[in-house]
Amino acid sequence: MSSDVRPCPICKLENARLVKIAGSEPYEIKCKRCGSFMMEGILLRIIEKGPLSEEDGHLLPYLSSHTRQATENGITSEFGRDNWRDLARAHTTTSVSQKVTKLLELVASRSAYPGARVLVDAGLDYPLLDATSDDEVNYLPESTDKGVKIAFRPITTGFRMMPPFHPLGESLNSGKIAEGSMNAEQN
Ligand SMILES: [Zn+2]
Repeated sequence: MSSDVRPCPICKLENARLVKIAGSEPYEIKCKRCGSFMMEGILLRIIEKGPLSEEDGHLLPYLSSHTRQATENGITSEFGRDNWRDLARAHTTTSVSQKVTKLLELVASRSAYPGARVLVDAGLDYPLLDATSDDEVNYLPESTDKGVKIAFRPITTGFRMMPPFHPLGESLNSGKIAEGSMNAEQN
């Protein structure tokens, strides 16, 4: 078994751990952003060597969404040249309102109780929302849908689920930190 620490082949985040198990083809890769997954060695070499076609490059962030969401569900995704695009494409059609819902669900899943302050790291957690960068997460709370309102609160230290009657402040500077509010009408 050989192990190597280098940038993640999918998202390029530093310090991903790649493990090659002797006699087995796929690499086991662990990345703080993409989670844990098994990638076919040939695909790993293709992606690392590059350059990828424009379309494939566009799909890569959605592969992060696939691997990270699988990891959160206790599944280690295994893929190669033949199926990675289909796995990624499944995350390309998520609407803005669905992403807002995913953000609220993420905050809720990390909250021990309504109003608890929880950390959502936009830079590491954006694949959980089918977003392609932290920028998109930072703007999501401003993409309000009926029944869903989130105001950025750069001075606080995390996201909070707020009661629907909580007075929302004006939209402040975008940043990693936000407070969220879920209206009772939101399912
Ligand atoms: Zn990664």
